[in-house]
Amino acid sequence: SCPQRYSGMVEDCCCDYETVDRLNEEVLYPSLQDLVKTPFFRYFKVKLGCDCPFWPDDGMCFLRDCSVCECPESEFPKAFRTPFYRGLSSDDLQCQEGKPQAAVDRTLDSKAFRGWTETDNPWTNDDETDNAEMTYVNLQLNPERYTGYSGPSARRIWDAIYSENCPKYPSEELCQEERVLYKLISGLHSSISIHIADAYLLDKSKNLWGRNTTLMYDRVLRYPDRVRNLYFTYLFVLRAVMKAADYLEQAEYDTGNPTEDLKAHSLMRQLLYNSKLQAACPLPFDEAKLWKGQRGPELKQKIQEQFRNISALMDCVGCEKCRLWGKLQVLGLGTALKILFSDDGWDHLGQTLQLQRNEVIALMNLLNRLSESVKLVHEMGPEVEMITEGQ
Ligand code: FAD
Repeated sequence: SCPQRYSGMVEDCCCDYETVDRLNEEVLYPSLQDLVKTPFFRYFKVKLGCDCPFWPDDGMCFLRDCSVCECPESEFPKAFRTPFYRGLSSDDLQCQEGKPQAAVDRTLDSKAFRGWTETDNPWTNDDETDNAEMTYVNLQLNPERYTGYSGPSARRIWDAIYSENCPKYPSEELCQEERVLYKLISGLHSSISIHIADAYLLDKSKNLWGRNTTLMYDRVLRYPDRVRNLYFTYLFVLRAVMKAADYLEQAEYDTGNPTEDLKAHSLMRQLLYNSKLQAACPLPFDEAKLWKGQRGPELKQKIQEQFRNISALMDCVGCEKCRLWGKLQVLGLGTALKILFSDDGWDHLGQTLQLQRNEVIALMNLLNRLSESVKLVHEMGPEVEMITEGQ
């Protein structure tokens, strides 16, 4: 079962599985669940337009409205019928947008969003300061879950991520830094799959949603490396949050609702300076071990470029809600990378860390998603045993 298979230290991290599960359940999960519901953390600014730079001519990204997709073949715009599909048939181009489970609800309290500093994140592709094309989304109305997005369109994005931008390990040539990028992406992929399986459309005719345990097992739990990478990603992001604690503690969570804003601030403090966390896992990941060799600066540049490519690939995700959560979580990872690896350590040089509001929102929502996934994996231990015994 899970608890037995995942024992000892989380690979490349400084805490063991048992401690992570305990801290997650006692400290992090409850605080994060409350935190992401506060007005400051539930609104995310995002560019949802589909400006895919990689497959601009195959039509997938331009099918914003499902009525376009559902046209009979003869009524398809000519461009979509040309060989630009590169192997995708019109069936594969099933557009998820406009379908209830894939559409983004943009209902928003207009007072909710006020600016912070405007700085661009060097690890991500979107210009975070470009407000013109951004929409604001209430994340609580748009939970990450099954949307039906699959097939070649989804597959080619994961393929492009793994094959071009973060090659799979183990490979003898991969150094620790490259392994980190692979594990972060794989851990995020595990978390996305776990959320899809946890909130699955079990019966379409009855609109019945629930957990699909078999899917969770098939996609994640039966692969120990995918589970390990999930824990790694969780600890990596947690370390970034803990490293930025002073900044996050002093930040203003101002949305014009003093009671709720105070709550966000106190939940944040509760999480950042939790004595149990400090005692049991003070350094979830040790970033100081990276970029040490001669190739350090060159490697960092290369990995930053690869991560920016991954971030750009999010514009090719052909399902609006998947794009929303893909962008949020990649920005969250980019923010963690910025905190841990930005120019030679802002903390040592007395430089001040600059985060923008959206980065903080992405970072904490990502940590919450990972925390939920870790909790689910831990809880699934006995169920996994039942599935495996039944095979
Ligand atoms: P996929 O999950 O597509 O995986 C493709 C291949 O990657 C697998 O065959 C395997 O070789 C490898 N792989 C799988 N998991 C891992 C891992 N953890 N580590 C390393 N390698 C792995 N669908 C939704 O329903 N809701 C969503 O919110 C959603 N968000 C998405 C966000 C993004 C950015 C992308 C690219 C896709 C999203 N999808 C979403 C689609 C979803 O991720 C799957 O692609 C889809 O459900 C089809 O799954 P699959 O079984 O073919 O395998």
